[in-house]
Amino acid sequence: MQKKSFAIIGLGRFGLSVAKTLYDSGYEVVGIDSDPELIQDYAEQLTHTVQADATDELALKDLGIRNFDVVVVAIGQDIQASILTTLMLKELGVRYIVVKAQNERHGKVLYKIGADKVVFPERDMGVRVAHNLISPNILDFIELAQDYSIMEIMAPSFTEGKTLIELNFRARFGVNVMAIKSGNRVNVAPGGEDRIQKGDILVVIGHNDDIKKLEQAS
Ligand code: ATP
Repeated sequence: MQKKSFAIIGLGRFGLSVAKTLYDSGYEVVGIDSDPELIQDYAEQLTHTVQADATDELALKDLGIRNFDVVVVAIGQDIQASILTTLMLKELGVRYIVVKAQNERHGKVLYKIGADKVVFPERDMGVRVAHNLISPNILDFIELAQDYSIMEIMAPSFTEGKTLIELNFRARFGVNVMAIKSGNRVNVAPGGEDRIQKGDILVVIGHNDDIKKLEQAS
């Protein structure tokens, strides 16, 4: 099977990080930016780099942009350019468009005009950092033996709306869920059919590394 191809528009910190990670994972990645210096700087680090203004429809067409499996729009500051580019990519028939949004409103507009996925890296990273900072305070921690503990963790987003059977923590992460806290309620004997909700706290038992993996999974 042929590997997916990606075009990344905007080689700022975010775009470049996406582009390099994909390229280092063995994918075809074309980086597009209006800044000729960036194009030169990263020419060797991606499959190909192209200098172009992404709001120029002809330039996008010439690039054969619709032939890429995924196009990521990582233009941050210039919201108008980001929206215009997304609109044109949609009109040109790009199959899957991912766009970085500056704020919720920007994100709303992007979904309205047909973005398949909108990401908020700064907002999401802020939430992550905050959770990490408060974890030691809000989570109870009982050391059972060296490397084994009972810990309280925020239910990771991928667990939301799923039952314990569906999540299969034991097989996937090697940990057991002992209790689920939902607000003031605590389910101390959760069964397989019990469903995890957004904002729940899980009390899990297992190897510290496995619990960490679960906490960091998304
Ligand atoms: P980051 O936080 O990822 O560093 P940012 O959110 O501050 O970036 P910008 O620096 O505004 O975003 O834009 C990212 C990149 O997109 C820049 O390198 C810029 O040259 C490029 N860019 C902006 N507008 C266009 C455009 N119309 N066509 C092509 N590239 C563009």
